[in-house]
Amino acid sequence: MDASLVVVESQIAAGLPSTTIVGLPKGAVRESRDRVAAALRSSGFTYPKGKVTINLAPGNLPKSSSCLDLPIALSILVSSKQVASEHAHKYEWIGELGLDGDLRQTPGSIICALATYHADRTLVAPAGAAGELGHLIRYHRQISVAVASSLTTAVAVLNTPERPLSVRAVRAEVPPQSNTYNDIVGQTLAKRALALAAAGGHHLLLVGPPGSGKTMLARALAELLPPLTHEQSLEVAAVYSSTGLDAPGHRPFREPHHSASSAALLGGGQIPRPGDTALAHHGVLFLDELPHFKPAVLNNLREPIETGSATLSRVGYRVSYPCRFQLVAAMNPCPAGRSCKAHSCRCNPEQVRRYQSRISGPLIDRIDLQVLVQEVPQAELLASDHPAIDLENLRQHIAEAHQKQIERQGVSNGALSPRQVTQMIREAGVSSSLLETLAKKEFSARSLHKIWKVARTVADLANENSIEDQHVLQALGFRTLDWEGGLNVRP
Ligand SMILES: [Zn+2]
Repeated sequence: MDASLVVVESQIAAGLPSTTIVGLPKGAVRESRDRVAAALRSSGFTYPKGKVTINLAPGNLPKSSSCLDLPIALSILVSSKQVASEHAHKYEWIGELGLDGDLRQTPGSIICALATYHADRTLVAPAGAAGELGHLIRYHRQISVAVASSLTTAVAVLNTPERPLSVRAVRAEVPPQSNTYNDIVGQTLAKRALALAAAGGHHLLLVGPPGSGKTMLARALAELLPPLTHEQSLEVAAVYSSTGLDAPGHRPFREPHHSASSAALLGGGQIPRPGDTALAHHGVLFLDELPHFKPAVLNNLREPIETGSATLSRVGYRVSYPCRFQLVAAMNPCPAGRSCKAHSCRCNPEQVRRYQSRISGPLIDRIDLQVLVQEVPQAELLASDHPAIDLENLRQHIAEAHQKQIERQGVSNGALSPRQVTQMIREAGVSSSLLETLAKKEFSARSLHKIWKVARTVADLANENSIEDQHVLQALGFRTLDWEGGLNVRP
C-alpha cells in the first residue's frame, strides 16, 4: 500500500514523428501517449514534431496506472519548452487525461499524497480527488496537496507556484452508525459472545439453522468495536483509495460470497487489487456458509489471520496488503440447511460429519468463541417489549477492556500467541481452581489456551484483574461445541 515515486523524462529528437514510452509501461500506460497527444492539442499546446522518447524511472518497476498521463504531458511540455520547468521539482503530479484535457481521478490518491509528503513535496491531483484528500489532511495537516481540474490548470500551478490551488480540509461525511445490535431479538448468548469478541479481538463462529439471524449478529460486531483511531482510519482510507472505492467512514464490514476465489479474498489480478481481507482491515470479515467455501481458499486465509497481512507473489511483483480483520464465520449445523430446521434433521450422521469436517483444522484453531445460535420463536419475535440496552455504554466498556489489554500486553487477548498464554498462566498462577481441574480433564492444551484467553476477556470486560472461577465458567460456555477431533454438533 505504498506508492513509489516515478521520474518521468522525455526527449525530443529529429526524425520521423513517433512516440515511444520505455520503463516497463503496462496496461493503461501503454495507451497514455494517445490520450496525452489529444489532450495537449485540445488544451492549445502543440505536440512536438519529431521522435519523442518518454522514460519512466526506475526502469525495473512495472507501471500500469493512467495517473502517469499528467506527468508525461508536463514532461513533453517542458522538453519542448512550452512551459517553464524551474518549479517542477517542488511537485509530484498524478491524473488521467481526457481527450479534451480534463483531469480525471485515478485510484490511490491518498497513497500518492502520503508518498509525496515523505518526499517533502506537494502533490497536484485531479479535482475529483479533493474529497478523499480533504479527509486525509483532516488528520495530517502538514500534508501539502493541490488540485487541478484540467491540464491547463495544472500548467498554471507550474507557472505561478506562489498561489497554488490548495485543497481545504473538507469534513468527510461520516454516515451515522447503524444500530443492528438492538434490532436483534433474543439471542442473549450470541450477543454476549459479540461483546466478548469485540472486547478481546476474538474470532467468532456462529452455528445455527438458516433464518436464525447470523448475518445480523455479524454486522452488530462491527458496530460494537471501538471507533477507528486516526491512524487506523487512514490505513482503511488508503486501502479503499487504492481500489477507487469510498472508505466506509467507520469499521468496515465485508461479506464475500462462498463462491469467492482466493484472488477475490486475498487480492490479485494482473494489476494487483486488494481483496476482501484487506477491505475488511480494522473491521469485520463475515464468511457465511463457511463449509461451502473452497477448502483451498480457506487454507489461504491462515496466513492473513496469523500475520495480519496478505502477500501476493507474482512474476515481476510482490504486493503486501494489510488485513487485520476480525473473522466471523457462520454455518448451518447440517448440509441440508433450510430443509432441516432444528430437531427435524434427516441427514445421516456420515453426511453431517463430512460436512462439518470441511472446516476443521487450522482455521478453526484460530476461532476462540463458538456459539450455537437458535432460531428465535415466532411469538418472541412479535412481542413488542424488547428491552434495548444502552449501546454507548456497552461500547465504552468494550473500548476500556481493549485499552487494558493493549497496555498490559501490547495486543488484544485474541492475538496472544500460545507461548504468551502459557507464560500468562504461569505468571498469574492459577487463581482459578476450576482451570486447574480442567487441565487434568479431557481438554487439550489448545482448548485450554482458548478458554484462558476468553476468560481473560470476561475478566477484562468486568474490569477485574484476576481470573476467577466465574470467568472461566463463562468462557466454557463458548465452547459448547466439541472441537477435539473436529466439529460435533448434533443438528
Ligand atoms: Zn440435516
